[in-house]
Amino acid sequence: MAGGYFMSDGRLIVLERHPDGPREACGVLGIWGKERSAEVAHLCYLGLYALQHRGQEGAGIVTFDGERMRLCKGVGLVPDVFDEDNLAELEGFAGIGHVRLAGKEERHVVNTQPFLVRSSYGSLAAAQNGRLLNGSELQEKLLSAGTVLQTDSDSELILNLIAQSGEESLPAAVAKTLELIEGAYALVVLSEDMLLAARDPWGNRPLSLGRLDEGYMVASESCAIANLGGEVIREVEPGELLILDQGGWRTYRQQGAARKALCSFEHVYFARPDSCIGGKNAYLVRKAIGRELAKEAPVNADVVIGAPDSGVAPALGFAEAAGLPFEIGVIKNRYVGRTFMRPTQAARRMAVRIKLNPVVDVLHGKRVAVVDDSIVRGTTSGKLITLLRDAGAREVHMYVASPPYRFPCFYGNEPSSQSELVASGRTLDELKDLIGADSLHYISIDGLVRAIGIPRDQLCLACFTGEYPIAPANYWREEDGKEHL
Ligand code: SF4
Repeated sequence: MAGGYFMSDGRLIVLERHPDGPREACGVLGIWGKERSAEVAHLCYLGLYALQHRGQEGAGIVTFDGERMRLCKGVGLVPDVFDEDNLAELEGFAGIGHVRLAGKEERHVVNTQPFLVRSSYGSLAAAQNGRLLNGSELQEKLLSAGTVLQTDSDSELILNLIAQSGEESLPAAVAKTLELIEGAYALVVLSEDMLLAARDPWGNRPLSLGRLDEGYMVASESCAIANLGGEVIREVEPGELLILDQGGWRTYRQQGAARKALCSFEHVYFARPDSCIGGKNAYLVRKAIGRELAKEAPVNADVVIGAPDSGVAPALGFAEAAGLPFEIGVIKNRYVGRTFMRPTQAARRMAVRIKLNPVVDVLHGKRVAVVDDSIVRGTTSGKLITLLRDAGAREVHMYVASPPYRFPCFYGNEPSSQSELVASGRTLDELKDLIGADSLHYISIDGLVRAIGIPRDQLCLACFTGEYPIAPANYWREEDGKEHL
């Protein structure tokens, strides 16, 4: 796919490569136990359970017991990969873990994280959530220098950059590597002496630091820390490199960026409602989005329902502001995966058919306002509206708690291809007809920013605006055709 988009400074950029490369909107965690007797494998396992919503295609844990690192990883959900037997083998007082979302061609176990290698710094394991925009360029440099790579994973690349940094200490090697890589990431690196954790300088990816009875912990979302009975200390700062070791935790280095660019979709959809990101609780932000939406859009309905489950929080705020009753209009079968995460269109369609059931007595003869978090591919919305009409709804008005998703995400979140985005190139009326709604209303970008409560210039809104805040040098050229490599 090639196309023109605008950087936040107004420059036109032209995409030069197919963006449909490695895609990962994953979750990471790391735990360093206070005592050598601490057993972290079960903690990592339960922490990954709390992050399961960030990726369902693979999971892995590496632990360190003071002598050896042990790795267990596989394809599938966390409970599919781990059992009592393999967790018992993951001995150690320190560990890192990863859950993975992958494109259909990348689901092989070989790409599952963490990666574990031996290096001049001893055994090293790494896992990251995000995407390096200059990954191909760095990969080519490593290959031409004779490096052998087994996968396309950014984590393997990062491990090689660390190993070849030439720095005397591991923290210096990681810091030097972070200066070379460009993109959105939350990274954890486990060594024999310490656990290092880093967040990209734009703060696009979330990462929180917490305290457990057993030691210290970092995780993509604060819910993982809370679920382990821990206390959130604070969010890792954009560009911060942390060290967790026997002495506790400390900042090793702080890298700057021209601006912050927290992914606004974390608050709209990605984050679990009980997580706080950018200091804002995701559930309360979603309710605030619903209130803003009700203020902005005309409301002619008898009842408000939320598209299960991610539309429920904004629907509550919407109903509150509109002065309408909120009802549960559709029951979700919780044992079917989120359709947004399914890797093929056919699988997504099938999943919608088997996962939702309407509450006819709530819907029959009513004008229904249905609130959803977003319309990405359109499949789910169309099926949901058909379901509501079949259940006797007189009118169905669709309210969307994010602006039209028109531009692909190049920072590791799906979808990364514009052709998959139903709002791209369609008018509001065309979209309304396509999904079969009586009316369709999106929240404005200003309304979304107000509801999140973080200044616009500290957020990434690129999939709504086409203004990409993180400038990948090898992805764009200026309008005059001059290439930037
Ligand atoms: S483009 Fe959209 S999904 Fe990607 S990081 Fe930015 S706000 Fe998040």
